[in-house]
Amino acid sequence: MIRQIPVMRICVSCRKTYDRKNLIKITKDHKQGIMFQNGMGRSAYICKSKKCYSDSKIKKKLQKALKTTLDPEFIDIFKKEITSYNDYPNKGI
Ligand SMILES: [Zn+2]
Repeated sequence: MIRQIPVMRICVSCRKTYDRKNLIKITKDHKQGIMFQNGMGRSAYICKSKKCYSDSKIKKKLQKALKTTLDPEFIDIFKKEITSYNDYPNKGI
């Protein structure tokens, strides 16, 4: 019997470890720039708790984790993305 071992990742905000399925992945894709849940390149993870995604320092934390400078619009897109995932917790990402 093969046991499924969950892939654990750390939230960039609260630094807690979660199952990969419960985190939003933000990737700095080599070609397409910042992507959510997809893309190839350096990635950062954030949990779906409001405390984390509405953290005033989240942009700074993500910039550090992704080693990039994020556009001023990023945070709006990011919040829209993350709230849409919260609306559909069983979206099966
Ligand atoms: Zn968190």
